[in-house]
Amino acid sequence: MPSVLVVEDDQFVRSALIRHLTEASHTVRSVGTALEALREVAHFRFDVVILDLGLPDLDGSEALKMLRGITDVPVIIATARDDEAEIVRLLNDGADDYLTKPFSVEHLSARMAAVLRRSRAGAEEATPSRVIRVGGLSIDPLRRQAELDGYQLDLTRREFDLLTFLAGRPGVVVPRKELLAEVWQQSYGDDQTIDVHLSWLRRKLGETAARPRYLHTLRGVGVKLEPPAPGAPPRQGPPA
Ligand code: CA
Repeated sequence: MPSVLVVEDDQFVRSALIRHLTEASHTVRSVGTALEALREVAHFRFDVVILDLGLPDLDGSEALKMLRGITDVPVIIATARDDEAEIVRLLNDGADDYLTKPFSVEHLSARMAAVLRRSRAGAEEATPSRVIRVGGLSIDPLRRQAELDGYQLDLTRREFDLLTFLAGRPGVVVPRKELLAEVWQQSYGDDQTIDVHLSWLRRKLGETAARPRYLHTLRGVGVKLEPPAPGAPPRQGPPA
């Protein structure tokens, strides 16, 4: 649910905006001055700011510059001034888009959707997914997808977390206590919990405890994941 900060001193416009945005299932906070807006963005994280240019305390372009000084949240300018030169300058100063008043709700929604789409795409680019590969296993922690030999694995949340944790340290024997703490977020528990999940995971990887390929249990020590050794038994069936 996107959260929106509405910066607008006109009570009438402001309550209309709040009503429409709330109906469109956005979370809305609103203020009437630029200084309040600065305080808001310093304390809360917003997905988009709608900034009226005619505010009582600061000129809109000043307000925009100060906002840009502390946050890169997308900003949509709402302006009554139909002045192209001014709008171009604001876009250069870091506004993401603008609307000329009076604007319709549909128009606002469309602009907001476009700005949110762009900022999400930007965020994904900024944090490229780090894919973990061990042998024929490939795990994408951000997308929560795992493949074995090109087959998509159908894992439960816990199985996925367990596999990702072990694959992140290939060849390292991880004590059960550490698995409980890291994967189950428990400081104690019984080993059976781990054994049960390991056995489900093994089945999905097409191996068994007696004929291991990736998952190796060292009795009394812990568990490790590593690429199948040469001469390891073949995978049993396509991964589940
Ligand atoms: Ca105003």
